Amino acid sequence: MIKNKILILMGPPGSGKGSYSKKISLKYKIPTYSTGEHLRNIIKSPNSNENSEVISTIKSKFNIDNVPSYLSNIIDKGGLISKNIMDQLMISFFSQLSKSDANSCILDGYPRTIEQASSFESTFNRKIDLAININQDYDIITKKLLGRRVCTNCFTGYNVSHINEKGYVMPSLLPKKEGVCDKCGSSLSLRADDTEEVIKERLKTYDLKSKSVIDYYDKKGVLVNSEMKRGYDDIDILYKIVNERLISI
Ligand code: AMP
Repeated sequence: MIKNKILILMGPPGSGKGSYSKKISLKYKIPTYSTGEHLRNIIKSPNSNENSEVISTIKSKFNIDNVPSYLSNIIDKGGLISKNIMDQLMISFFSQLSKSDANSCILDGYPRTIEQASSFESTFNRKIDLAININQDYDIITKKLLGRRVCTNCFTGYNVSHINEKGYVMPSLLPKKEGVCDKCGSSLSLRADDTEEVIKERLKTYDLKSKSVIDYYDKKGVLVNSEMKRGYDDIDILYKIVNERLISI
């Protein structure tokens, strides 16, 4: 069992962080937490028990009237949610995590700025044990994001783009029945931020705000770079890194 460890998956939007986190999570039996997925879930189901609590905290602390629409306005334009709001999400996630036996997790999409990285350390008094950075060509990323389809209910991801160029071989990942999720039967849709215009903005935001976080973890000696040019066919590369860096023999 991986105990008391935190792994983060880093890389530009569309590099596959979410999909790979879920694979690692299943293999090593540690939870994965995607801030982007949590934010989308708050927007989609603001009245669920877990979401209404975090929404009312954000509403009262930061004086925001309509939290879901405030969040979707930022996300749908390719911007970043403020550090203070992200702190609230992380506090609620870590209060649950600390009750688990292993107290380990994978973070997907957080920290995304230097501010968030240092706030994480001071708020939770925990360090990142391993940061895997997935580098990918921006043209490939754009094609992949435009082909992405996501289940509107359980958020399982599919992809209709077939990529075979610049050394990247990533076959499409299609559901058995077009437009329908294999796992829960709900309909698939495009994410609101997966349009050409917003993808450009998200990559710009990544260059401006998130790239520096790679250096931050490199200086701390916990960074490993990877390319994942064959998608899931390269997943063993990530398992090997996790085995070598997080599992003490
Ligand atoms: P993702 O699913 O990781 O691509 O995230 C989707 C969107 O959610 C991002 O483009 C941001 O608008 C927002 N988001 C997710 N994680 C963070 C974060 N750590 N800090 C700020 N905004 C975030």
